[in-house]
Amino acid sequence: MSIQDEFDYIFKVVVIGDSGAGKTSLIKQFSLGEFDKEMRSTLGVELFVYNNVIADKKIRTQIWDTAGQERFKAVTNLYYRKASGVVLVYDITNHSSFRNLQNWLSEAQIHIDPDACVILLGNKSDLRHLRAVTRDEAEQFAKKHDINFLEVSAKDNANVKYGFESLISEIYHLHSFKQTEYECRQIQNGSVTLTSAQPYNAASISQEKLKQMREKCCS
Ligand code: GDP
Ligand code: MG
Repeated sequence: MSIQDEFDYIFKVVVIGDSGAGKTSLIKQFSLGEFDKEMRSTLGVELFVYNNVIADKKIRTQIWDTAGQERFKAVTNLYYRKASGVVLVYDITNHSSFRNLQNWLSEAQIHIDPDACVILLGNKSDLRHLRAVTRDEAEQFAKKHDINFLEVSAKDNANVKYGFESLISEIYHLHSFKQTEYECRQIQNGSVTLTSAQPYNAASISQEKLKQMREKCCS
């Protein structure tokens, strides 16, 4: 059985932001439940996986970590390719990591599907005595770009699970919505084929669901 058969959906999420913001720490906290104080950055892309279930659908999320290339502005097209979600990270104690968000977002937008879901995470919330970025300015940035925003701490494991899971849930809901639209169009065209050859790893539709959709779309 291949990975594609095992999961209803496989999503790719990329994590971007300045070096030192805590991207690797956040990913490790989320996918492995660990925080390593002596983090060394490695070279090459690192992949982490997270599996969960939403509405009876088995979801695998691949989380891509730049593993250091961001220091040389060498994050490539391949890294962004086919990502459905973006985690944009800055460090609340480092104002330049916040100022650079605009560059990161603009670069991501060049490479990524306009429908990709984005979340902004202000990391190191445990270091509130060293805060250099106010919650207010981060909220304004998020509002301007219509993205969700949370302050998190990889160290204290604060909001980390919630942040990543809400992104995955947003991606899932967008995909299942698009899938329903696609299926509706197929039904309207009279060309619906209930095979696995549908996009988004769609599970085959039951006759009952098909009937409901026909009523919804074709009335
Ligand atoms: P990356 O370059 O964006 O991948 O950042 P890293 O995950 O390598 O983290 C950079 C440094 O910040 C490391 O020394 C981490 O231990 C530290 N760090 C990461 N997250 C946190 C956090 O939430 N709180 C604190 N206090 N330190 C953190
Ligand atoms: Mg890193």
